[in-house]
Amino acid sequence: MSNRADVLAWMRIAGYHADMRTFLRLYTENRISKRVADEAYRAGTKQKLAGMRCMCHQCTKAPTQPENPAPSTDERTQR
Ligand SMILES: [Zn+2]
Repeated sequence: MSNRADVLAWMRIAGYHADMRTFLRLYTENRISKRVADEAYRAGTKQKLAGMRCMCHQCTKAPTQPENPAPSTDERTQR
């Protein structure tokens, strides 16, 4: 029982975190058209690329950048 706007916001956050699994779950659990869903995901990806801050719970409760290295493949290299 989610508000459509909330779902889209979560999809955007999923895109920000490149969290395709969460995105797909939101998509299957809610009646959102594929096009709109994809747009939300892409918007999140763009926000990350633009260096914008994420508004999700996890990110807002941790004001400093987390030390733990991301286990997934990251675009950042050692250099
Ligand atoms: Zn976040």
